[in-house]
Amino acid sequence: MKTSLGAILAIGLAGLQLVAVLIVVFTSYISSELTLIHHARNLLSDVGNNTMEHSKGFLQPAHGAAVLAAKLAQNKVVASEDQGLLEQLFFQQLQLSPQFSGIFYGDRAGRFVYVMRSDSPGPYRTKYITNGAEGRNTRLVWRDEAFRIVSERRDPEDTYDPRTRPWYTKALAERSTIWTDPYIFFSSQRPGITLAAPVFDAGGDIAGVMGVDIEIIDISRFLSRLSIGSTGKALIIHRNGDVIAHPDHSFISTPDANGALRFVKIWELADPIARSAFSGLFDRGALDTPRELSSQFTYDGSSYVSVVKPVISNDLPWTIAVYAPEDDFTAIIRGNRYRNLWIAVAVTAVTAFIGLLMANFIYRPVRAFAVRSALVSQGELDPSAPLPKTYKELERANAALMQQIAARKQTESEYGQTFERASRAIAQIEPADGRFIRANPKFCELTGYARDDLLQMRIADLASQVSPDPFAALKDERRQDVQLDEELQWETKDGRNIWVKFNAFVVRDEDGRSLYAVATVDDITEAKEKEKQIEKLNRDLSDLSKGHAMGRMATGLAHELNQPLAAIAQNADAALVAATRGDLQDDDLRIILTEIEQQALRAGDIIRALRSFVTEDNASRTSFDLAELAEQAERLVLAEAKEAAVKVGVVVADGLLVEANRTQVAQVIVNLLRNAIEALAQTEFTERRVTLSAVHTGDMVLVSVADTGPGIAPGLNLFTEFETTKPEGMGLGLSICRSIVEANDGSLWFDGGRGPGACFRFTLPADTRLTDRRGSEVA
Ligand code: ADP
Repeated sequence: MKTSLGAILAIGLAGLQLVAVLIVVFTSYISSELTLIHHARNLLSDVGNNTMEHSKGFLQPAHGAAVLAAKLAQNKVVASEDQGLLEQLFFQQLQLSPQFSGIFYGDRAGRFVYVMRSDSPGPYRTKYITNGAEGRNTRLVWRDEAFRIVSERRDPEDTYDPRTRPWYTKALAERSTIWTDPYIFFSSQRPGITLAAPVFDAGGDIAGVMGVDIEIIDISRFLSRLSIGSTGKALIIHRNGDVIAHPDHSFISTPDANGALRFVKIWELADPIARSAFSGLFDRGALDTPRELSSQFTYDGSSYVSVVKPVISNDLPWTIAVYAPEDDFTAIIRGNRYRNLWIAVAVTAVTAFIGLLMANFIYRPVRAFAVRSALVSQGELDPSAPLPKTYKELERANAALMQQIAARKQTESEYGQTFERASRAIAQIEPADGRFIRANPKFCELTGYARDDLLQMRIADLASQVSPDPFAALKDERRQDVQLDEELQWETKDGRNIWVKFNAFVVRDEDGRSLYAVATVDDITEAKEKEKQIEKLNRDLSDLSKGHAMGRMATGLAHELNQPLAAIAQNADAALVAATRGDLQDDDLRIILTEIEQQALRAGDIIRALRSFVTEDNASRTSFDLAELAEQAERLVLAEAKEAAVKVGVVVADGLLVEANRTQVAQVIVNLLRNAIEALAQTEFTERRVTLSAVHTGDMVLVSVADTGPGIAPGLNLFTEFETTKPEGMGLGLSICRSIVEANDGSLWFDGGRGPGACFRFTLPADTRLTDRRGSEVA
């Protein structure tokens, strides 16, 4: 299928720009989404770093304060034995560092000073435990911001012993500043960690341990203030899986079996997204991430990005884990994508529409041109009609096309005229099935069918008898140059049988496919008829000549025999007379002589009978057209004449009727023509012609056969039997001819008197009707 120019233009202009727009939209979408996700990860990582720094920054002062206090105690700046001074120091520290919830010192003797924040009755509470000689004593003192005592009481129930606490034992064991793991503070029920620094005495032994309680709930508060996307969260997880800070700090503590509070493990966390994102990292009980981990995961059908930082340090084996929904970062871009998509669709629609308009604008003159060309080619539009407004290229194409159309029309018209006006019958035939496509008037005339009748017929329908398909070769596509030349018998519409000479060939296109067959048909019925007649004449002649040769031989013999036989008869007569006179008395001799006479007479009778057989054969006389017979005779000698390069001319007026035996006259004419041709064949003359002519003279018709040959050989006795100059000749021809002519009441003679060559003439009685007619014509 050929694509139309209009379609190509429309697809080209509208389709290509649609593809271009879509490519731009999708590549920008994909690249922007990838960039945003990358950016989200960076952001989460930054949040992690930030949180880490914040946590460190949050804990750093505690470290400084504890170490400072320990150093002060160690260097006796503040006497560690003086619980009052320690209290004052601790009070000041608490006021300076809001993240400190309490500062304390416990010594080897089990004494303990602990200043912590309180709600009531005063903002600060101090716990003193003395463990002297008078025994253990616990006292609680509440103070206001100005260090004035607000309230005071003893607590005899108290059993607290600092030396059993984890911070004490750990600092004692490690002999350096230590951080405890986060735990839920006993007094405040809040999460925190304790930093403990040993205080050494002069001897290098540990005199006691100085500690700072830091509530880490503030880290959770800090996390809750972070904005990570719109719904992202950061949390801090201990290496052991405890969630120690979460934006919602109520999530991180839970009561243990004893009713005390403990941290929630990450896999127990009430934040299901964080649980799903990070619990996998603690499958083997503890986290170990030397490098930052970032990943993407799906929860409840939504995609998230997450980052897990490596643990802060060995002292603080915490990791910061951050997650956020992808949508927080890509939702805008997604929104944009849909908007862009719609914009792209709108742009495409508009540009496609413009493209179509343009395609139409470009294509319209081409279409008009195509329509015009089609109309011109069908003859419905004059090629000289003005060309509509169009392109230069098309104008040039038009000029070439019009030239071709004019040439084609000329050819068509010439062919049409030739076809229609041809003197021969021509038809176009479908080679496959022999149907008529076209037939000229001559064809209609020949077959008797009207053109419309023929167009409904096949060529085979004309055959007057069923015979093997003579047109089969036309159908054979493999035989490219097939040419039929057949003589066929057809039946005309009115039932006549005619003979036709049928010539056909197949016209093919450039690729060799057959288009149609052209058949040329000639009516050869008449020629066939003539041929038949000539054949018959030939047959008759040969029969006749056989009879006449014998007859003439017999005549010759009779002529030769007649006189000796007469002499025998005379001698026999004389012998008989002598015998009767008495010279001879022998009866036997008489009997013999009588027998001789009888035999001789009998022989004479036989000879006479033979002569009459030849000369009196005029039984089958008819009246016939001499012109027709002359033409047939000419045809019979045509082959010999051609071989001898002799021209035979016949000058006989039509309708010249004679009354004679037609076959015998034919033999005479043929004989004379042959003699002339044979005489000419032996000569070198350039003019080699025989003329057969006939004219009407009185009651007779005079026929002449004249040639331009050598004439009669000198000394030759014409019309005499066995006189011949030819090695194969019998010398009977002329004498038989003369006999025949005479038998038909005419005469034959040699007329050598005129010009070179020989001329034989004979007469035949003209048909009396002809004479009458001629007479009446003359009258
Ligand atoms: P045949 O043809 O057998 O010889 P014909 O009686 O027909 O017998 O002719 C006798 C002879 O007459 C021929 O051999 C030929 O020499 C001569 N003759 C007949 N017709 C012509 C002619 N037209 N021109 C010259 N010679 C002729």
